[in-house]
Amino acid sequence: FKVPQPINEPVKSYEPGSPERAELKKALETGRSQKIDIPQYIGGETIFSGNKLKVAPPHDHQHILGYFHEGDASHVTMAIEAALQAREKWAALDWEQRAAIFLKAADLIAGPYRARLNAATMLGQSKNAYQAEIDSACEIIDFLRFNVKYMTDLYSQQPDSSPGVWNRLEYRPLEGFIFALTPFNFTAIAGNLPAAPALMGNVVVWKPAYTQVYSANVLMEVFKEAGVPDGVINMILVDGPVAGDIIFKHRDFAGIHFTGSTKVFNTIWKTIGENIANYRSFPRIVGETGGKDFVIAHSSADPKILATALVRGAFEYQGQKCSAASRAYIPSNLWDEVKELMVSDLAEIKMGGVEDFSNFVNAVIDEKSFDKIAGYLDQAKNNNTEVEIIAGGNYDKSKGYFIEPTVLVAKSPTYVTLCEEIFGPVLSIYIYDPNDFEETLALVDSTSPYALTGSIFAQDRYAIELATARLVNAAGNFYINDKPTGAVVGQQPFGGARASGTNDKAGSILNLIRWVSPRTIKETL
Ligand code: GLU
Repeated sequence: FKVPQPINEPVKSYEPGSPERAELKKALETGRSQKIDIPQYIGGETIFSGNKLKVAPPHDHQHILGYFHEGDASHVTMAIEAALQAREKWAALDWEQRAAIFLKAADLIAGPYRARLNAATMLGQSKNAYQAEIDSACEIIDFLRFNVKYMTDLYSQQPDSSPGVWNRLEYRPLEGFIFALTPFNFTAIAGNLPAAPALMGNVVVWKPAYTQVYSANVLMEVFKEAGVPDGVINMILVDGPVAGDIIFKHRDFAGIHFTGSTKVFNTIWKTIGENIANYRSFPRIVGETGGKDFVIAHSSADPKILATALVRGAFEYQGQKCSAASRAYIPSNLWDEVKELMVSDLAEIKMGGVEDFSNFVNAVIDEKSFDKIAGYLDQAKNNNTEVEIIAGGNYDKSKGYFIEPTVLVAKSPTYVTLCEEIFGPVLSIYIYDPNDFEETLALVDSTSPYALTGSIFAQDRYAIELATARLVNAAGNFYINDKPTGAVVGQQPFGGARASGTNDKAGSILNLIRWVSPRTIKETL
């Protein structure tokens, strides 16, 4: 299997005066000044239902970017039928043809669509230029290119044969359709969740989050231009429970590729269980869910490296990464210095709209999310014997859903914000006695149900070794002296266990293996 050897897409810096900055600024202006209509894409048709819902930037919620045309139950059925109709031809197509389509999609995003897709992610999801670039340019390009290589790695896994017998594995796609249910926080994840099963020969019904439709629409245009045949990826814009009610009862439902909340994933799992006798096969259930990602510092940690990692890990993209550092355990010998460094770093950080590239922090995704995060901040303010706010704490939703990067220090290791997922710019800290490192490792492991990402900061190798061993099940992605965010496709396969998901490592052969149903063929020669 000879395929182009992938390399990670270089991150563009958007320096003042650079051509890419000018192009991105232009795409932002175009995006802001137009009012587009976003359809559903079913079987090669664009469907404008007439039931229009507003799309607005989270940082400027009165500005209208356009409307998306919401669908209903009939569109879910249409999308399933379109997918099943496309299935036979697509499943029979040579893998090289499928690979070429997705490699072309990667090239389109790397080139002509880069500015538009980044601008859509910036405006629709309130990501700054850097956060958009590492997501809607580099990460999706990497997913598309590396998956082609991993597909051929998988296909080359073949059994042994013996004299007179030739054994082989045929990596068939699943018999039915895949449902991709995707989140707002990464355009790359939204694109990869339908693209990975499709690359493996499956047909897909894709429902993006309503808060990501603006960039999802650009992804559909890319897929179309790259040559994804009609019906292979269908994008429906339908309320989740309405879609789920039809999809999870369908005989040809073959699997779900999900990223979202633990709560929704639990409900989906139960619903699939209740319908299990209706399906042709046991469906594949692949999900990446929540996190309450930790940073534990040992007394030997470098305070500067630690403080920078905390600020970036907790507050990049307003803490709305499943991987965000949201709880930190810091030994008292380091605390004064780390606190000072963080407070002075945070004082320099600017918050505002994405159009001004000097803003590091932008808005959280929507009002519901804003209210939830603000609720935790109010609770902290009313609880000043249990918790101290050492930075931030303010919020304002008059123009956009802005919440200041907030650092809380809690007296108890079981204080609510040290245990529950908040999904916003809130970092909770617990200060421990440096002699209690082992006890603190046990706290890290036991005070949250999640196990997605986590970091140890230490210079002492014994401490690193101890943390690595004691936290063996506490994170699917474990970082030594680095922030717990920013996994790179091909380098750090991503996913966690416990309440964080099925750990089928996005961007690796371990994910692609879930989208095939191999047939063993024995031939007597
Ligand atoms: N892969 C991303 C990271 O490493 C996080 C993905 C997510 O938020 O779901 O930061």
